[in-house]
Amino acid sequence: MFRVLTCLRDQHNWALVLLAAVVCVSASLTAMTLVRRAKKSASGERMRWVLTAGAATGFGIWATHFIAMMAYDPGVVAGYDLVNTLVSLVVAVTITAAGIGLAAMESKLVWRSVGGALVGLGVAGMHYTGMLALEVPAHIHWAKDLVAVSILLGMAFGAASLSVATSEAKHGLWAGAGLLVLGIVGHHFTGMGAINMIADPTRQLSGLTLSPDSMSLTIAAVALAVLGLCAATILHRQKLEDLAEANERHFGALVDAIQDYAIYMLDPNGRVSNWNTAAQRFKGYSAEEIVGQGFEVFYPEAQRRAGKPQRALQTAVEQGRFEEEALRVRKDGSHFYAHVVLTPMFEPNGRLLGFAKITRDVTQTKADRERLRQTTHNFDTALRHMSQGLCLYDAEERLILANPRVMEIFNSDPEKVVPGVLFRDQVIRIMQARGASPEMIEERYRAHRALIDQPGGGSMIIEAGGVVLSVSHRPMPDGGWVSTYDDITERRRDEARIAHMARHDGLTGLPNREHFNAHLDQDLERAARQGQKVAAIAIDLNRFKEINDLRGHAAGDQVLKTIADRLSGICGEAEFTARLGGDEFACVKRFTETRDLTDFIARLQTALNASIDLDGFEVAPGGSVGVAIYPEDAAQRESLMNNADLALYRAKSSPKSSQSENVCFYEARMDEAARDRRALAKDLWQAIARDEFTVHYQVQKAVDTQEITGYEALLRWKHPERGHVSPVDFIPVAEECGAILDIGEWVLRTACAEAARWNNQAKIAVNLSPVQLGHVDLVHMVHSILIETGLSPRRLELEITESTIIGDKARALHILRQIKALGVTIAIDDFGTGYSSLDTLNSFPFDKIKIDRSFLMEAEHSPQARAIIRAILALGKSLQVPVLAEGVETLTQLELLRSEGCDEAQGYYFGRPAALVPDEAPDKIARSA
Ligand code: C2E
Ligand code: CA
Ligand code: CA
Repeated sequence: MFRVLTCLRDQHNWALVLLAAVVCVSASLTAMTLVRRAKKSASGERMRWVLTAGAATGFGIWATHFIAMMAYDPGVVAGYDLVNTLVSLVVAVTITAAGIGLAAMESKLVWRSVGGALVGLGVAGMHYTGMLALEVPAHIHWAKDLVAVSILLGMAFGAASLSVATSEAKHGLWAGAGLLVLGIVGHHFTGMGAINMIADPTRQLSGLTLSPDSMSLTIAAVALAVLGLCAATILHRQKLEDLAEANERHFGALVDAIQDYAIYMLDPNGRVSNWNTAAQRFKGYSAEEIVGQGFEVFYPEAQRRAGKPQRALQTAVEQGRFEEEALRVRKDGSHFYAHVVLTPMFEPNGRLLGFAKITRDVTQTKADRERLRQTTHNFDTALRHMSQGLCLYDAEERLILANPRVMEIFNSDPEKVVPGVLFRDQVIRIMQARGASPEMIEERYRAHRALIDQPGGGSMIIEAGGVVLSVSHRPMPDGGWVSTYDDITERRRDEARIAHMARHDGLTGLPNREHFNAHLDQDLERAARQGQKVAAIAIDLNRFKEINDLRGHAAGDQVLKTIADRLSGICGEAEFTARLGGDEFACVKRFTETRDLTDFIARLQTALNASIDLDGFEVAPGGSVGVAIYPEDAAQRESLMNNADLALYRAKSSPKSSQSENVCFYEARMDEAARDRRALAKDLWQAIARDEFTVHYQVQKAVDTQEITGYEALLRWKHPERGHVSPVDFIPVAEECGAILDIGEWVLRTACAEAARWNNQAKIAVNLSPVQLGHVDLVHMVHSILIETGLSPRRLELEITESTIIGDKARALHILRQIKALGVTIAIDDFGTGYSSLDTLNSFPFDKIKIDRSFLMEAEHSPQARAIIRAILALGKSLQVPVLAEGVETLTQLELLRSEGCDEAQGYYFGRPAALVPDEAPDKIARSA
């Protein structure tokens, strides 16, 4: 040791020693950097790095050695043997390269140390070969112990250096470089200390030597090269490190900035090794809490127990990736749906580094997806169950979707109605199937297109093959459109049926009154334009009511149907039949020649009069017909029909002896009278309520004594417009329309009440209509009025005409007997006119016979009239019934009656019918007459 130190102190130039140290440290750092680089690089690249590292180390230690040699000044150096100098360089480079190669390639410590020791051996090899190159005029003696120590020192430090440099240790680079420097320096100076030179000037120098000057240049060049390489390496390394650091920083920031994905790493055992902020947000753990924990904490208990976390890692390693969407647990125990990707990371040497794990919270996405799926499903269901066909087209007329109803409506093969099919092609296909011509197809397509292009779209009705479709096209903002197809065949049919029902009679199927009116209006209009005539024909069945009552409604219906069928059967061109209601029918006939109408009416009569078979029972309902003709009878529908009705009315009321008499044509004169009667009838119904009636009284006296025997009540009507209307005119109308029932009761009540107030016991004679006898409980009525007015029955006399008891004689007589039983007397009025049968007088015990005034009026000139008067008086005598003569106007007439022995008389001679002033005694009337 002492020798080494003295050598260092005495024989070295310190400036050069320092340079040697700089070169040594630089070379060592460069070498270690390259070694570590070689270690990390892929096997293909590795050899290059190994050779570079070997060269750097070799050149470095070689330069270090020779600079140090120049710093060593034995004072005798003459030159350097060229061959040995070169050999020493080659030794340095090759052996260190071999050592570095071994250390870089092998991962085991032992081999890395062996590699390092080899590097140390290379240093030693270079050192002693280099010493052989030294040309000095002296003998060199080697202290063998120091030589051995120097070699071992180099190898030991070399082994330590490379095993540290190739390890994972934190400052492996610096430690390795330091150890290598120590190894080189230790070896060198120990080796130098082993030298002992004894001067020998005789010693011959070899021929090929480098002078110290050229050696200096060479070393300087090599040293520069080493330093350059070193600087380049260090710069390069710095740059790489800066880049790597920046990358790492950026990457870290990036990973942290990602909010939607939890990105973190697991070590090979599945323990969390880092953690980003999104991960913290998703899972609730902070980095401090979770780093180092197994990633299975993110799994729900059951999955954890089923070994899912381990299987995930295994799958990732085996397949290079593991991906799933599954439930995960947060720190607070809540669950969320995660989409997880697990990717293994390997070192270049294939060693598993760990796993990159990317997790995304898909709870919302999953819910959205589910909702979308549900919506789509609902939409699908709705589409499938729509009663309308629906198609969606894009702007290029391509079908996007169609519901199944479309196929049904168009009877289409579902394979032909697929997305992408052109609308135009569909129109062509459907219409071709129906045999449409190309022109028709083109026209239809254009019609569709027009609707589609119209703002807001539009719809149209298509009829084909008995099917009615309502088609509607609604444009969409993107240029496409929605088409809907509605099969409205059934609806149309219903509408048509309802329309038919509204215009036709349910029972017979004939047009009804509304339809008839519309048709008649039309015909009138057309006739007016074309100068034609129109006959409105009213028809009424004669015996329908009878058949209905006797045979039942079913039979009645059958009669109506049969007649309806016949009537519509006879209708030809310009002829029309309707049922107006009940057994009323009507026809319209447009014509120019009268014989056309005659012909139609003949057909009509045949149809009406032919008998009908009702289950083997023949009936002949017969029908009355009234005809009114446009334009002569009326210009308007209402009046034309009205006139036809008037004619019908006449046809019905005229006695029928032949079929032709069942037909009446409107005749203004006759039918206007009928119309007038109807108007009168209408007014009669309101006359009582309007207080238009009064009762006048005409006195009746005994012919011989001229004593008052009674008064006849005679009805008076003051019509608001017509003034006084004679009972001769209105009583028959009242009887016809039935108003007589109320009117008769009113007269009876008024007359009785009046008579009850009189202070004499005169009778009151009230006329009774045959209609009253037939329709009212007359007995009860008379009785209650007598009670009501307090008039004694004996003072009441009812006048009836013979016609009253002609119809249902037995019944009429029964009623009369009951009335008579009340104490009321019965007079037979207008005797001598009409039937005037003895039989009538015999059949009932009348209390008075009134000879019609016509006989007395003629009596003066007609012996026949006088004979009749005489005969009636005789009849009365024999039956012991008093006789009253009506219409006595003169004294002569009265004398006649007296001479013939008539009991009573009534007439203008005794007094005109007059109203009673209240509280006026009726005898005053008699007197005033
Ligand atoms: P009638 O029962 O034969 O009534 C007598 C008619 O002869 C009355 O006509 C009367 O005014 C008229 N008369 C009386 N004396 C003379 C006379 O000297 N010369 C002429 N030329 N005529 C005379 P009136 O009032 O116009 O009644 C006509 C008919 O109307 C009545 O005939 C009767 O059948 C009917 N009538 C009147 N009032 C009623 C009534 O309250 N009920 C019913 N059912 N019929 C009535
Ligand atoms: Ca009378
Ligand atoms: Ca009379």
